[in-house]
Amino acid sequence: MEKSRKVTPQKETSPPRPWGAHISVAGGVEKAPERAQRVGATAIQIFTKNNNRWSGPPISAQAAERFREESHRRGVTTVASHVCYLINLASPKKDLLEKSREAFLDEIDRVDQLGIENLVFHPGSHMGEGEEEGLKLVAESLDWVMERRPDSPAILALETTAGQGTGLGHSFPQLARIMELSAHPARLGVCVDTCHIFAAGYGVSKRDEYNATFKSFDEEIGLDKIRLFHINDSKKPQGSRVDRHEHIGRGHIGVEGFALLVNDKRFADIPMVLETPKGPDGLEDMENLGVLRDLVKV
Ligand SMILES: [Zn+2]
Ligand SMILES: [Zn+2]
Repeated sequence: MEKSRKVTPQKETSPPRPWGAHISVAGGVEKAPERAQRVGATAIQIFTKNNNRWSGPPISAQAAERFREESHRRGVTTVASHVCYLINLASPKKDLLEKSREAFLDEIDRVDQLGIENLVFHPGSHMGEGEEEGLKLVAESLDWVMERRPDSPAILALETTAGQGTGLGHSFPQLARIMELSAHPARLGVCVDTCHIFAAGYGVSKRDEYNATFKSFDEEIGLDKIRLFHINDSKKPQGSRVDRHEHIGRGHIGVEGFALLVNDKRFADIPMVLETPKGPDGLEDMENLGVLRDLVKV
């Protein structure tokens, strides 16, 4: 690590903010907290297994214990796990739908084992069956998994999506509709990805657009449903419906949008995690977190 790059300290006058990044679990989940501390992250998101495989080896009791100890020792709270990318809770193909639901159950068991409070997932893709059919199937799938894990404390957090292809969840009314169709809406939450909502068409760069976006979110879903933010700039313009993450302030959202977000008192306690490009040492996370901290007006 270069000596010149330092973690920007938290401003002493303000309480520490739950900010961090998606952190690699290469070598085991118990390795993540140390990596997080190295880049100055106090909140993290992880994958609890390979994100491109249906199943993964079970997490041993020792690894889970070590993960909890290390997190405590490093001052890191794991705010979320992101489910694997193969899961589609709206798949019209019966075998894929069953596989997705079973894999989702395993994801719930893993977060419960590790004590992670939010399980983030993309609602799903209707694959040509139509929006309403897709939304119904997502709600049915969620009820199916929740009813098989009645005692799980995990909140299932629907991630806002960019609207690529037949993907669902790119509009606030769609997310609201899933919650309305579910029999267990209290166990559902939302993960707002800044790049995705922007790519889906919601403005966040200028004050009036930003205010209108969150007013609309509040009216459709309720701001109290926001569990965490994925804090990413966008390589593609507003409304492009293309999901390409960029470093904070270097994309089409720009620093002004992020300044509005980090100074929005309503979200002061909501965890924010980066999902921006980085190398194995994570120095880019350190820099992006520094950019965000510098935007905070005391
Ligand atoms: Zn995601
Ligand atoms: Zn995201």
